[in-house]
Amino acid sequence: MIQSTMQGGNLSLATLVEYSRKSFPEGRVRTWTGSAFRDISFAEIGEQAAQLAHALDGLGVGRGDRVATFMWNNNEHQVVYAAVPSMGAVLHTLNLRLSPEQAVFILNHADDKVILVDASVAPMLSAYVAQAPGVRHVIVVNGPVESFTAPDWVTVHAYDEFIAGQPTTYNWPGDIDERSAAVLCYTSGTTGDPKGVVYSHRSIYLHSLTATSTTGVGLSNRDSMLAIVPMFHVMSWGLPYAVMMCGATMIMPDRFLQPEPLLAMMAEGRPTLAAAVPTIWQGVAARLHAAPQDISHLREVIVGGAAVPHTMIRAFDEFNAPITHAWGMTETSPLGSIARPPAGIDDPEEAFAYRVTQGRFPPLVAGRIVDDEGNELPWDGETSGELEVSGPWITGAYYQPDGNVSAPDKFHDGWLRTGDVATISPDGYMRIVDRTKDIIKTGGEWISSVELENAVMSNPVVLEATVIGVPDAKWDERPFVLAVVASEADADIEAHKAFLADLVPRWQIPERWSFVTEIPKTSVGKFDKKAVRSRYAEGGYEVFGEPAPE
Ligand code: ADP
Repeated sequence: MIQSTMQGGNLSLATLVEYSRKSFPEGRVRTWTGSAFRDISFAEIGEQAAQLAHALDGLGVGRGDRVATFMWNNNEHQVVYAAVPSMGAVLHTLNLRLSPEQAVFILNHADDKVILVDASVAPMLSAYVAQAPGVRHVIVVNGPVESFTAPDWVTVHAYDEFIAGQPTTYNWPGDIDERSAAVLCYTSGTTGDPKGVVYSHRSIYLHSLTATSTTGVGLSNRDSMLAIVPMFHVMSWGLPYAVMMCGATMIMPDRFLQPEPLLAMMAEGRPTLAAAVPTIWQGVAARLHAAPQDISHLREVIVGGAAVPHTMIRAFDEFNAPITHAWGMTETSPLGSIARPPAGIDDPEEAFAYRVTQGRFPPLVAGRIVDDEGNELPWDGETSGELEVSGPWITGAYYQPDGNVSAPDKFHDGWLRTGDVATISPDGYMRIVDRTKDIIKTGGEWISSVELENAVMSNPVVLEATVIGVPDAKWDERPFVLAVVASEADADIEAHKAFLADLVPRWQIPERWSFVTEIPKTSVGKFDKKAVRSRYAEGGYEVFGEPAPE
């Protein structure tokens, strides 16, 4: 039997950090301050990462210890991303928008010992740490240490002083196994309690390689990537590591996440790529209609995390900033699929039909759909079933400190059960029909809440809309539409129903509607259907069109 003559080689994030420092010293991360950028080069990131690692050594941070961040997307956060996994510790990115109960649960579950916090959100963290007896050190970044109120078991440090005077090189350990833990991230809990997913050096390395390949995002050193998706949400879709792999410039919005400052930042930074969930782009589009601005410097806008409304794709085509639709989850690092039309499709309308799908799986992700008994279903573009995925950056379990298996029902023969219902076409294009929990079951038929939302939002007077299934005496469940419309006169149910008559089968047209000024959003900016459901159940919406019980 002939053996390969190739060497081994360990995929480690320390190698990646050193590579970016030496090969792309001119590469930059740029953080918006509200009026200008403050820049840091990859060479400086490498130096500061070394300094931070030395300082963390001084606190006794060892292999596998959790170092948490409670921070916006900014230069300092990038330094922590570089330092912590490279020294063999585990970076835990805490979500800034969790409820206090969830935040305290996660802090204790992850057993965080050290936390780096942006001063602007330090008061919030103080309240959580008061209930987290395991925390020992808090390091305040970008502001005064006084912004954090420490309980007596915590020592507070100022970041600049903490790293000052430390050596700017670090002898990163060479024996960290590529399969060991690098970053810990909790799911945002849209559909239940947060669950911990632990990425490895290997999974992040392979994911970053794909982000720089044309089967992924196609990021290169000629790009400037605006990462609006938070660094506390699935590692900002893996972008902080992907830019280090290819020398792309990274633009960080810090806490300036509203459409107006985002657009001001874009005018100044002229990114070529940008990444965020649809609700962010919905706001940006509305602002652009009110105050036109050229955003054609964006060669591609990567949108995922929730289904992209078809009208949004059309709107951004008009802005000359084409949207590329992608699907993923915290559990999938997150790149699970990406919608690029097949070769040879030149007609824009034909291409559009592919762009609205969730796309094809990249080479290292295997996908399949299965029925309720777990039998594989055909890729015929019509049969729908639960989507299951597997691959080197798909989680095979959830983190449990006691080593017990958590949520075994989420896994099936080594595949992750996504909880999404999908179809797959013969040429490999996956289309998410809905989340299992969101499908509306009405009189024995199914309605996809995603498709109905798309149809409702294709009416230009609808700014935002979400659809949930609500109890109905006759049909078990019927759709309820919660919408934000342009003006009071647009809160006209009959007009909306007439609009839908051409778009969806008659039996799907919703009877119940409510109009509000804002739809509740989750901690990562998606429509919060859980909140809409419970508010509906409490009678918290003024519902029009409720059919009389029979
Ligand atoms: P959470 O489940 O807490 O929202 P995630 O960010 O991990 O946290 O969300 C993953 C889910 O988001 C997927 O299972 C899917 O339901 C939804 N999703 C992500 N991208 C898309 C997309 N492009 N189209 C439709 N749904 C999507």
